[in-house]
Amino acid sequence: MKANLNLGSVAGIKIKVHWTFFLLIIWIVFDQIKRGGNTESILYNVAFIFTVFLCVVLHELGHAFMAKRFKINTKKITLLPIGGIASLEKIPESPKQEFLISIAGPLVNLLIATLLYFTIPINDILNQNLNDSLQFLARFNLRNFLFYVFIVNIGLVLFNLIPAFPMDGGRVLRAILAMKMNRVKATQIAVNIGQFFAAVFLLLGLLYNPILIFIALFIFLGAYGENQIVNHLSILKGHKVQEAMMTDITTFNPNDTVSKVLKTIISGTENNFVVLKEAVIIGILYHKDIIENSNKKNWLVKDIMTTTFKVLQDKDDLKKVYELVYSESNSFFPVVKQDQFVGVIDYVNLNEYLLIQAKLSH
Ligand SMILES: [Zn+2]
Repeated sequence: MKANLNLGSVAGIKIKVHWTFFLLIIWIVFDQIKRGGNTESILYNVAFIFTVFLCVVLHELGHAFMAKRFKINTKKITLLPIGGIASLEKIPESPKQEFLISIAGPLVNLLIATLLYFTIPINDILNQNLNDSLQFLARFNLRNFLFYVFIVNIGLVLFNLIPAFPMDGGRVLRAILAMKMNRVKATQIAVNIGQFFAAVFLLLGLLYNPILIFIALFIFLGAYGENQIVNHLSILKGHKVQEAMMTDITTFNPNDTVSKVLKTIISGTENNFVVLKEAVIIGILYHKDIIENSNKKNWLVKDIMTTTFKVLQDKDDLKKVYELVYSESNSFFPVVKQDQFVGVIDYVNLNEYLLIQAKLSH
């Protein structure tokens, strides 16, 4: 089952909605029916949820457009029932850039709230006595609708600025810390504070609102993952591709048969292969293509190889490989030295290298 539904794209950024989002809509409809709601109230509430998520998309676009100013592209924006995620191609290492990209999202909501503040008489509503405003707010009209959108945007600003890394506020905190100390230490502090908040969310979630449990989980896993990335990048700093590449490898030529490739896969541990023609790299045999075509034993390597691929230089930074592994769908790259094929590097090897280096640096 496809997990995400494509909504289209804005400025080249795909906007996707996760299928669980529709559970939220169904839940809203059922909740309204249970409360004795009519068609009007159901439509009103569903329209409200869509508007809230439109504000979330605008928030994520705020991050994406700011990132674009620093030449960082955004692969996609995904909407989940608990909010949105903008998947940036990489996380900026410059604290100033991270600060601006992180703050841009909440600023969008602040802007929406400010516009609404001047469009509808927020003060009138807030200055009424409580009973009057409750009665007034129970009506389904445009003014109330916009009032709730105002409240939600204020909520989005405050919630996102909680310093729970990797939420926006936590990123802002890391960026500020990283201006004063090294990034590994800044991340560690931000992660510790983030995990404290995650524990608070978990507790509040168990007591009051299960959505907070998901957010706690998101913070725990997100913080762990990013802390690891920062540690890895610091371990890899200054190291070159040639130190971690595999050189003891099998290559094929374009006229080898698929059945020969299958024998190699079964008898050894290699999964992906470089295809050479007179010592020049002309293609890559990816494991999934080999398996998919494994019943076509008379086919040749050239029939199933991929001809568009990235090539690394032996003197490239290993950091670059790390970023590629996380941004490309394939994590197997041939390495050349002055245009001569010298080896390959993949995700598994990079990880092994990291484990060894981490041990050495302790
Ligand atoms: Zn955000």
